[in-house]
Amino acid sequence: MRRALTAVGAARGIALGRVRVRHPQALAVAETRIPAEAVPDEILRLHRALDTARAELHGLRDRLHGALAQEVGEFLDLHVLILDDPELLHGLDDLVSTGRYSADYALKLQRDRLAAVFEGMHDDYFRSRREDLDHVIGRVHAALQNRGDDAAHGLAGEILVCEAVAPSELAELQGQGVVAIVAATGSPLSHSAILARSLHLPLVLGAGELLALANDGDALMVDGGTGELVLEPDTDDLHRYHRRRAELGREQAQLARLRRQPTRTQDGVDIRLYANAESREDVAEAHALGADGIGLYRTEFLFLQRRELPDENEQFLAYRDLVLGMAGRVVTIRTLDLGADKADHTGLTLRSEPNPALGLRGVRLSLVHEALFLTQLRAILRAAAYGPVRVLVPMVCSREEMVSVLAMLEKARASLRAEGLQAGERVELGAMIEVPAAALGLADFIDLVDFVSVGTNDLVQYLLAVDRGHESLVSLYTPRHPALLRLLSELFAYGRRNGIPVAVCGEMAGEAANVPLLLALGLRDFSLHPSTLLEVRRAIREADLASLRRRAQSLLRAHDRAGIEKWLAR
Ligand code: PEP
Ligand code: MG
Repeated sequence: MRRALTAVGAARGIALGRVRVRHPQALAVAETRIPAEAVPDEILRLHRALDTARAELHGLRDRLHGALAQEVGEFLDLHVLILDDPELLHGLDDLVSTGRYSADYALKLQRDRLAAVFEGMHDDYFRSRREDLDHVIGRVHAALQNRGDDAAHGLAGEILVCEAVAPSELAELQGQGVVAIVAATGSPLSHSAILARSLHLPLVLGAGELLALANDGDALMVDGGTGELVLEPDTDDLHRYHRRRAELGREQAQLARLRRQPTRTQDGVDIRLYANAESREDVAEAHALGADGIGLYRTEFLFLQRRELPDENEQFLAYRDLVLGMAGRVVTIRTLDLGADKADHTGLTLRSEPNPALGLRGVRLSLVHEALFLTQLRAILRAAAYGPVRVLVPMVCSREEMVSVLAMLEKARASLRAEGLQAGERVELGAMIEVPAAALGLADFIDLVDFVSVGTNDLVQYLLAVDRGHESLVSLYTPRHPALLRLLSELFAYGRRNGIPVAVCGEMAGEAANVPLLLALGLRDFSLHPSTLLEVRRAIREADLASLRRRAQSLLRAHDRAGIEKWLAR
């Protein structure tokens, strides 16, 4: 029977396929005891399954190539680490040899034990590690059942409907032919969602109802943009789907023609479009689409999912690749923004902060770990010898922090000089405006910066006091709030008066629908993921800047979201 549901669209694109349900309790194994004489064979069976799982993970890692190799590879490495964890392994052996449980049941018991430990911690970081544990255990269980790759082969043309999806799985699932993913949990600002957008894999989150309703083999239509889901679509739905698909195909072809066109409004004003990048693939795409440069390179992706810190040389090579990849266009490298939702394995971030979003993160963390910060700044300065580079500092709150950063930059430069190492001559320094205090207090440190970039993802979170990753607050988390628009308008005007460029690099700038609003408020520098760059360029080319600017006052008089949307609709 047809059922239409709406959840949260997290990565755009439409898909039609058969459902493949992955229930969270996939490890439904009956309690089975084995006789003492069967123990050695059972241990052998268990170890073979562990070896198979290990070999699969290594095989996947070897097959990765291109830009995703590093990011996804790090998640796979983490899974290998979990698989080799002595506590997990000893526990398993013990349960089989002493407890006389079957290998399958031992696996379930160990999983339940460790999951309870993770869950008891009530910490986002550990919750996400619990998901990794489930993935690893699921892989070993499949190997015990001799399912291995067979289960995967059937995935072509299927839509995975699951409780949660890990970033490490996405590329693998797509490689196996999964055409979309629908998960019950997760937020559009999660790393899985960012990666799904990079892979152009439609993703819908918050769809717990579908997980309860859907069965393997049901037909499902997914719209990763609107979050619409239609289970067992009827003829009208199918017509709609095919029409939409044809429309999207035509739109892609039209957009492709904008690759070499200037980003110029109807009344002849050039607007700068920079790209946000997390991977080498993003950099290549940004270059191919004619981005004006990289407006935000998130260096924390070099640090996540690993135990050792990347050393200066590894960082230098990554940043140099980025600079060379943009062939002379400016590259904005953001210093480490770990903490809160971006927790690492290196022991840098605190594990038990009561309010991680208000805790040791961004520049605060860098200033606490001086040696680490110096290493990163040295690597960036060395890369700057190869092309124009700007340094962007995340989570700035005060003048004192920018003064300390400047001192560290000087120290890094002096140490390179002393060692006779090459560094970029002129490296501009910028601050991210993500905290209301920095937005309201820009005047206090504007003399210390060459540019600023507004991180609306965090600014919205702190201004509205709404957790950006909170699944139940998705409807409250919006940049279309009068207070944010007023603040942005003042920032843009203040930057203009002082000759300091003010960019927006939050997700807000990557939505074509926000273009008239941002132009009206005075934005001239957009920074966005390459996946929506052409759409945003098209929206800018369709806009008449002078008439939008004339309408800015009426936008700023809107008292609520409905008023802002009414303004946009006009
Ligand atoms: C932001 O906060 O808007 C931003 C661009 O940074 P991130 O999403 O990496 O926190
Ligand atoms: Mg941020």
